Amino acid sequence: MELSYWEHKSWFSHVDFTIIGSGIVGINCAISLKEKYPKSNILILEKGSLPQGASTKNAGFACFGSASEILSDLEHHTEEEVVQLVQKRWDGIQRLRSLLGDEAIGFQLHGSHELFPLEKPEFYEKCLASIPYLNSLMEPIFQQKPFDTSNNCFNFANIQEKYITHQLEGQLDTGKMMRSLIQKCVSMKIPILNGVMVEEMIESNGGAIIKTADFEFLSKKVFVATNGFASKLLKSETVKPARAQVLITEPIKNLHVKGTFHFDEGYYYFRNIDDRILFGGGRNLDFKTEETTEFGETQIIQDRLEALLRNMILPDYPVKIERRWSGIMGVGAQKSPIVKQISNSIYCGVRLGGMGVALGSLVGKELAELVD
Ligand SMILES: Cc1cc2nc3c(=O)[nH]c(=O)nc-3n(C[C@H](O)[C@H](O)[C@H](O)COP(=O)(O)OP(=O)(O)OC[C@H]3O[C@@H](n4cnc5c(N)ncnc54)[C@H](O)[C@@H]3O)c2cc1C
Repeated sequence: MELSYWEHKSWFSHVDFTIIGSGIVGINCAISLKEKYPKSNILILEKGSLPQGASTKNAGFACFGSASEILSDLEHHTEEEVVQLVQKRWDGIQRLRSLLGDEAIGFQLHGSHELFPLEKPEFYEKCLASIPYLNSLMEPIFQQKPFDTSNNCFNFANIQEKYITHQLEGQLDTGKMMRSLIQKCVSMKIPILNGVMVEEMIESNGGAIIKTADFEFLSKKVFVATNGFASKLLKSETVKPARAQVLITEPIKNLHVKGTFHFDEGYYYFRNIDDRILFGGGRNLDFKTEETTEFGETQIIQDRLEALLRNMILPDYPVKIERRWSGIMGVGAQKSPIVKQISNSIYCGVRLGGMGVALGSLVGKELAELVD
């Protein structure tokens, strides 16, 4: 498609910064760039009619790492790396809250609880015994000992007697957060062009040529924030797609569950929202099939989610499922995101993993700061 003179002049000439991807990272990067360079010409390009990766699909946990996840991470990362990552998640949430305000993102601090199924008593005991160690690692970040135990006050079935509670984890309304971020871009005069699939970037004199399915243009700098889809544009980086499936119940009368909950090293997670239970996970049942950029649900995972919902989360309630969906995350051997310069004019902030709500604002800011 040829761009008209008007289209070229009004949207695609003298572009200083182009961000590819309008998820939480891309939008935060654009906002940070505009704050630093108020006169700059910024464009965000997004392949979907809405953001179409993870940022509008997630569970809205403002989480920093459960006890068992941190213990598992410590098997593959140094203490310093693990602490640094938790610190970044904590900083990311604080940045998001101060950027948009708690009301605009529906932030609520109800704490989070890790549940332990009955089948693994040794694992439960190991996690309980690690609480003092984990608290000593995490206290400098949170200025208090974050982990504690609580009784099964929500009457979940088939679990061990106690939860491990993180006092400072909260929840937010994902839809409100993303609408507020997009609104912030509009108010800062940063256009988001939807339905634009970027196919290639080529270094050139004075910047990079961005080739989309329909047209191409020159941008002085390009920021790739495509997370689970990153390997398409960034051949040198190892980011694997990881699909995550979710369901939500119909409203439940007198729902007594409040907070965010997870089990199985974070592979399953649920929360209350609008008198419903949102429940996701089960990727570990079928890693191979879930390593995909295709959206969709599978029988094996949906059946498992429903069984757990009925047998563990809401054992006495004939619950109905209202909606199911999936999102695509970006994962790799390392849990930390990749934030770096790729070439003269191209930068990336990708591989956000399963806690990008907490991390995303900070990664977006760090990505913007790569430009001097
Ligand atoms: C089901 C689910 C539940 C989750 N729950 C939580 C949670 O409770 N708490 C938490 O912290 N994290 C959670 N996460 C993870 C979190 O949502 C992600 O880490 C975060 O949203 C990543 O943000 P991002 O901006 O890096 O990527 P994305 O939101 O995926 O944004 C990337 C964008 O790039 C666009 N794009 C890709 N390729 C192109 C291209 N070639 N051209 C143009 N546009 C392109 C995509 O359409 C997409 O909109 C969850 C994820 C999923 C899927």
